[in-house]
Amino acid sequence: MEILITNDDGIYAEGIYALAAALSRAGNVTVVAPDTQRSAVGHAITITDPLRVVKANRSGKFFGYAASGTPADCVKLGIKAIMKKRPDLVVSGINLGGNLGYNVLYSGTVSGATEGALLGIPSIAISLDTFIKPDFSAAAAFSVKLAGYVKKHRLPPGTLLNVNLPNVPAGKLKGIRVTNQSRTSFNDWFDKRTDPHGNTYYWMTGDFKPKDADQASDLNALRAGYISVTPIQFDLTDYKFITELENWEITA
Ligand code: MN
Repeated sequence: MEILITNDDGIYAEGIYALAAALSRAGNVTVVAPDTQRSAVGHAITITDPLRVVKANRSGKFFGYAASGTPADCVKLGIKAIMKKRPDLVVSGINLGGNLGYNVLYSGTVSGATEGALLGIPSIAISLDTFIKPDFSAAAAFSVKLAGYVKKHRLPPGTLLNVNLPNVPAGKLKGIRVTNQSRTSFNDWFDKRTDPHGNTYYWMTGDFKPKDADQASDLNALRAGYISVTPIQFDLTDYKFITELENWEITA
C-alpha cells in the first residue's frame, strides 16, 4: 500500500513523526508536509508564489519532503509531482489539538485529508485532543488499524474520515464511537494590545468549552474517553433548502 502523509503542524512536529513510523508498518510511506507551522489555514492553496520543496531529515535520516505551502498544497504536490505511484491512502496528522464540530472548517489537518478525497483517494485526518503533554502512541497505532478497515471496506467517493482521540494511553481508551460533528465552535475574542511604537494590534484568542447535548457527537465521544470517527464530506449544498429557495422565484 502506498501511503501519503501530511499535516499542518509542520514536517518537524512530533505527531507526524509518530504517524509515519506507525504507518510504515502498513505500507510505503511518503511524507510531504509544510516546512513550518500551518495550523488553521483551512483549505488554502498557494497560487501567487512558487512552492519550494526540500528533503528533510529526522533522527539522522531522510524523513520526507518539506514544502513551502499548505497541507492542501502538500497533498496535491505529493500526488501530482512527487510520488511515482498514486497513493492508496492519504493520512493527515497526527494533529496537536482536536478537530471537532465546526472547527474542521478552519483545520489544515482536515483539509489535507479533504484534498486527498477530492483527488479520489481514501483519506483520513487524525487529531489528538490536547495541547499539553501529548502521547501520540495510541493514535499512531489506531491509524494503522483504521487504514486496514479503509482498505477492506473502501470509502464512498467524496467522503473522508475525521478521527479524534483523547490524550490517554491505548490501555485507557474506552473504545470507538462513530459520531457526527458537534454543532460547536471556538468561543473566540480579540486581545487588544499596544505595540512598542504605540500602535494598536489585536491577537485572537479563545477557548473551547462548549455544552453539547448531542450524545452522538464527536465532542461527547471524546469527553467519555472514546476514539471519535466521523465520516465527513465536502459537498456543502443544503439540499433540504433547494426547493424552498426555488420558491422564492428570484429574478435576475
Ligand atoms: Mn495543527
